[in-house]
Amino acid sequence: MQKRYLVTPGPTPVPPEVWRAMSGPMVHHRGPDFQEVLGRVLARLPAVFQTENDILFFASSGTGAMEAAVANLCSPGDRVLVASAGYFGERWAAIASAYRLEVEHLRYRWGELLQPDEVGERLDAAGDTRAVYVTHSETSTGVVNDVQAIAEQVAGRDGLLVVDAVSSLGAVPLETDAWGIDVVVSGSQKALMTPPGLALCSVSARAWELSTAALSPRYALDWGRAKSLAQTPAVTLVQGLDAAVDLLLARGLRAHHEHHLRLGRAARAGAKAMGLELFSPDDDRSAVVTAIRVPEGIDGVAVVRAMRDRSGVTAAGGQGELKGRIVRIGHIGYVDVWDVVAALAALELALVAAGAEVERGIATAAALDAFNEAVHA
Ligand code: PMP
Repeated sequence: MQKRYLVTPGPTPVPPEVWRAMSGPMVHHRGPDFQEVLGRVLARLPAVFQTENDILFFASSGTGAMEAAVANLCSPGDRVLVASAGYFGERWAAIASAYRLEVEHLRYRWGELLQPDEVGERLDAAGDTRAVYVTHSETSTGVVNDVQAIAEQVAGRDGLLVVDAVSSLGAVPLETDAWGIDVVVSGSQKALMTPPGLALCSVSARAWELSTAALSPRYALDWGRAKSLAQTPAVTLVQGLDAAVDLLLARGLRAHHEHHLRLGRAARAGAKAMGLELFSPDDDRSAVVTAIRVPEGIDGVAVVRAMRDRSGVTAAGGQGELKGRIVRIGHIGYVDVWDVVAALAALELALVAAGAEVERGIATAAALDAFNEAVHA
């Protein structure tokens, strides 16, 4: 038996309180037991989303809520703008194409930051755009985009703003109403500290209005059906989420964000102390996942495998074009600095075993020092 440490950017470790909330007798989704839980979680999720908009659940992974945000807003042939700089941004374009939309794709190299002013310029050039689809935290690269600045560009122009916050909601600041975001999609398995399988989505009044005229076919993903709970919700996951939101709000949303910021500092400091190069930006916005370049000549896939096999530490490798080139350490949700330290130590061991030259034994001290530095807001 080997103890397991999960340091991927999702799924993330689940607190015992959440497992406990999910382990009672099965209840019926229309009965009072579940209605009480549902009422409570729906009353408190707005504080997490920072919104007064409706919040819907889907019994799917995050991608289901992404697809719903295309199907419910658009009709075939509608023009949409997708701004992407990584694996998950490109998913918006793939979904929009699958729904036969006309996709204006502002595509950046993986690892780059979306440029808000260029989003505005592309909207002006394209004209008549139904919606703009962007990714807040691009989990494949570690970049957290400036969604507030993007929202400022979209405001006053055509189109609603739809944000993929699957790995950012609860992890880093996201002010749905104050920034003017129409639709925010997320998933249970990241900073919300709940197992995978529950997708969430907030929908503004303007988005609801547009959805009534949107002709893309939809049934199980229809927002109206989701709102009326026409299908059986993921009862157990909603029970878990209720406990997770309880923990999150008891700590405080801002304190939760600050915790992630400090973990990000720890991960970056540890990696740099070892002599490794960061792929994700070396700044505090990058508080969700730290992407570290694998040294030249070393196979990143084998490094991730060795971390798991030798040390019981599950980290994430690179996706798509970054496969084999980076190792990603996630630091959101029920994670503390000791998880980051374990990840760095396992990475060090795996790299040494693969023949890489790394500075040994100092990553842990650097990580702990960085974690303990005061945070100036
Ligand atoms: N968007 C982002 C930013 C993500 O990190 C993920 C999951 N890693 C997804 C979308 C897709 O979510 P899911 O795997 O739950 O469908």
